Amino acid sequence: MDLTISPRIEDFRARIARFVADEILPVEAERANWDAHGNIASAPLETLREKARGEGLWCLQLRPETGGQGLGKVGMAVTYEEMNRSIFGPVVFNSAAPDDGNMMVLEKAATEAQKERWLAPIVAGRVNSSFAMTEPHPGGGSDPGMMLTTARKAGDRYVISGRKWFITGAESAAHVILIARTSDDPRRGLTAFLHHRDDPGWRIERRIPIMGPEEHGGHCELVYEDMELAPDRVLLGEGLGLKLTQMRLGPARLTHCMRWLGLAKRATEIAQAYAAERSGFGVRLADRESIQIKMGDLAMGIEIGRLLVMKAAWALDRGSFARKEISMAKIHVANLLHKAADVAIQVNGARGYSQDTVLEWIYRYARQARLVDGADEVHQMVLNRLLGEEDRDFWRWEVGGSEEAGR
Ligand SMILES: Cc1cc2nc3c(=O)[nH]c(=O)nc-3n(C[C@H](O)[C@H](O)[C@H](O)COP(=O)(O)OP(=O)(O)OC[C@H]3O[C@@H](n4cnc5c(N)ncnc54)[C@H](O)[C@@H]3O)c2cc1C
Repeated sequence: MDLTISPRIEDFRARIARFVADEILPVEAERANWDAHGNIASAPLETLREKARGEGLWCLQLRPETGGQGLGKVGMAVTYEEMNRSIFGPVVFNSAAPDDGNMMVLEKAATEAQKERWLAPIVAGRVNSSFAMTEPHPGGGSDPGMMLTTARKAGDRYVISGRKWFITGAESAAHVILIARTSDDPRRGLTAFLHHRDDPGWRIERRIPIMGPEEHGGHCELVYEDMELAPDRVLLGEGLGLKLTQMRLGPARLTHCMRWLGLAKRATEIAQAYAAERSGFGVRLADRESIQIKMGDLAMGIEIGRLLVMKAAWALDRGSFARKEISMAKIHVANLLHKAADVAIQVNGARGYSQDTVLEWIYRYARQARLVDGADEVHQMVLNRLLGEEDRDFWRWEVGGSEEAGR
């Protein structure tokens, strides 16, 4: 087992760390640079994106021929964590959800013509995108088998009707990947479609007010009423919507974890700084064993998360679906992020509850981590199923290298 990283990945990490410290954190510190939903406003974002692109720190997740840097999942684990030292970091490097996951799946699944039309503008930073799958009750949420949005065949067109909600970024997205039912087949009943904001037959019913800060374009409820799409709008193939979803959500869950580790480290950093300077009852907070235990525990939790994420990233880079690794990372890191924000607020006292630091932002944001892209319980269910299927093989080691190397 080798947990070293290549000099190229280290070079990207160091350049991103510098960019975040010198360019993004000063922008984050100035509230005038924030929009009404707690995200970076578009003017400073465009300036920073231009700089990041100029320094070659753009779309690290994509292949060079797509306009990226071909860093692989291991390289992404290292750099995404570094990006999210700032709450505004990932979007500056075009590595924020949902564009991040949408670009990666389009790169894998789209035809050349579809890539040119639907992927290239997102890579260029000219448009944003959404992934529309979840539906309000009684439709599909944790269980995609309950999906009610239908795509009926009428001549050579598909006619789509239904309702989606919590669709991140929909208010500013021009490109949408939409999952709809094309048959009742339990395994091949869903199909993925591509549609444009200007296609008739759909509307945004509302931007759903939420407890946390919002991605650009918010989280929206969408209504489809007989939206007609031509067959060239099918992504991957009719009946392959569940497969497309799995292709998208596996890596996207892991990139969430990579970013959340960066946020958890930032929360820890703010707590450490305050504990180092604040005293009470004649003792510095940092010198109190009760505080040291909290901070040590957080550091361990973050490192466990990094190991889980790195193992999953390594497995994905080797062509595995890394199902159990991703589920474990998703559960652990989502809960860790919540705990890191909570502990950091506690250590900061009233200051932690104020808007003088980004801790309250991280705290409000963190609660969604245990729901999005599979609630904790769904991943626990997946792990239990794999444990049942694989039995003692669940714990197998991958054997590699030579006899000599192992001695
Ligand atoms: C901020 C945010 C952004 C989102 N962005 C998007 C997006 O861009 N696109 C999109 O399509 N969706 C998006 N979602 C939706 C998200 O993926 C779903 O919320 C998630 O899949 C859970 O589905 P649900 O909300 O319908 O929960 P339900 O399926 O109604 O489940 C409710 C609760 O029941 C429990 N539960 C569910 N299944 C099991 C089980 N098997 N065992 C035990 N307990 C269980 C869990 O605690 C779960 O939280 C977003 C959600 C949020 C909060």
